[in-house]
This record gives sequence, C-alpha cells and structure tokens, in this order.
Amino acid sequence: MQHDPVHFDPALATADATSSLSEAADTSESQDVRQKREFNKLQKRLRREAGNAIIDYRMIDEGDRVMVCLSGGKDSYTMLEMLLSLQRNAPVNFSLIAVNMDQKQPGFPEHVLPTYLEQRGVDYHILERDTYSVVKEKTPEGKTTCALCSRLRRGSLYGFAEEIGATKIALGHHREDILETLFLNMFFGGSLKSMPPKLLSDDGKNIVIRPLAYCKEADIAEYARLMAFPIIPCNLCGSQPNMQRQVVKEMLAEWNKKHPGRLESMFKAVTNVAPSQLADRDLFDFAGLEAKQAELRAGRIQALNVG
Ligand code: SF4
Repeated sequence: MQHDPVHFDPALATADATSSLSEAADTSESQDVRQKREFNKLQKRLRREAGNAIIDYRMIDEGDRVMVCLSGGKDSYTMLEMLLSLQRNAPVNFSLIAVNMDQKQPGFPEHVLPTYLEQRGVDYHILERDTYSVVKEKTPEGKTTCALCSRLRRGSLYGFAEEIGATKIALGHHREDILETLFLNMFFGGSLKSMPPKLLSDDGKNIVIRPLAYCKEADIAEYARLMAFPIIPCNLCGSQPNMQRQVVKEMLAEWNKKHPGRLESMFKAVTNVAPSQLADRDLFDFAGLEAKQAELRAGRIQALNVG
C-alpha cells in the first residue's frame, strides 16, 4: 500500500529532530491503520453485497459444484475471493472450481493464473481452445470481434461445465455491467432486458449465476488495486473496446456524477418491474381489462348485497 509523503519542515527539524521523526512515524502508523480500516470496510461491503445477491436469488444450494469463470480481469478475481470468503461461513456446503479459458491470443501469459490459483490453493482447470483464430478468420476487417469471441467462449465454458459436473457457472458481471446492458438493449436491440443475476441457459443444461450483481464497479476496481491482483488484459487479441458499451458506460458515469444515487435508483428499478405500467402484451393482459373490471364490479355488488 502506498502512503502519502510526510511533509518535512527544515526549521522544525533543527529544533527537535527526534520529536519530528517520532511524529512522522506516528502519522505513518495512523495512515496504515486508516488504510487497513478502509480496506476492511470495502471488503466487508463487497462480501455483504455478494452474500445478499446469492441469498436473494438462491444462487447456491447445498452440494453445488460452482465453476468460477476466471478471465484474469479485476471482476473475476474479486468474484473468486468473495466466493472463497463466503464459502468459509456459508450455511450450505459447496465446492469451487476455477476455470480459465486460454483462447490462444498472441502473448497470453499462460503462467499467471496457474501460479495465482496454486498460491491460493484453489482447484482449477485451464481450458485451451483456439477461438482467437476462428474470430480472426470469421470477423470482417474493421468489425469488432468481441461479440463472436464472447459467444464462442460462452459455448466452450458451458460445454466444459457439463464435462466436469459443475452444477452452477459463476460469472463476474457487476451492477454497472447489468445497467450498461439494459441501455444497450434499449438503444440498439429494441428490448427491455439485461443480464439477470441467475439464468437457465437456452438448452436448459446450465445455470449461470452472477454473485457480483449488487457490487459497484468502482468498489471492485479499488479492491483489485489494493489486492494487487495479477491482471491479464482482455485486448491481447488487438481488438478495440466495444465502442457502444464504452459510450453507455461514460453516459452512466456522467449521470451519476451530476446526480449521485442515480445508478442505485436505476438498479433498484431493474428489480422492481411493474408489467401493467409498461406495454408488453405478453406480460400483461391489456385486452382483458374490461373483463377484469366487470369481475371487480360484480364482486363489489355482491359485497353490498351481503352487507
Ligand atoms: S477484447 Fe479480444 S479477447 Fe477480449 S472479448 Fe474482445 S475479442 Fe475477445
């Protein structure tokens, strides 16, 4: 951890060097204590939010074998640490197995995750699939590669989860990922949907969980910095970041700066949907409102007659 430099005054130094040095040591010690306290608060907050999300969506049951997808980014390292910590005190027994996919991007540092996971004593698999070549071959020049890359990665990980008997697949998406996806789908997909905290895959074979769904990205970034995780960048493939996602990310950050609390409110909205106040005819029976009205009227008349 870094400390702020202790300011040094030459006049005071000549007057009482010993006293200055001892004050500096005190200041440094109190900074250490303060930083440790801040770190503990941050860690507790992340653990509480992950624990609440797991409970609220019943993400993990007794005997679950949770496959923790590790990309080497800040989010997945944080998710693994939170799950390891929660596992120690959870009322249910579950096991964790970390899985990283080596997509054969040039320069991928193969040793980083195995070294980290061995030091942490976590069981793991490295799944080697050359999706990099497929993505390069199939994506037209100048087009962004992330969509196909993620689809191929997801397919491989889902298949691998079955192979190793994992009952849940944990992904490291956080609150901002969920909100950004919500806006991207509204802006470009014409649908009101995002990334749910828990999901059954289309073929019904896998259940995906997102234990960091309630966690703020800024908290995760700070935690990753303080933990000095050995981060592996995602853009080894040479791809540009997804520009549309970046624009939405900046838009949300700007809103939150101008109106603190806006992201909290928007996330709460995702968990508090009123289908009768939207316009999806599959979710709410608008055509049947007259029948509902007649039913209510009949009920009221009957109640008056009985009274
Ligand atoms: S940046 Fe590269 S490796 Fe990361 S998701 Fe996009 S295409 Fe895949």
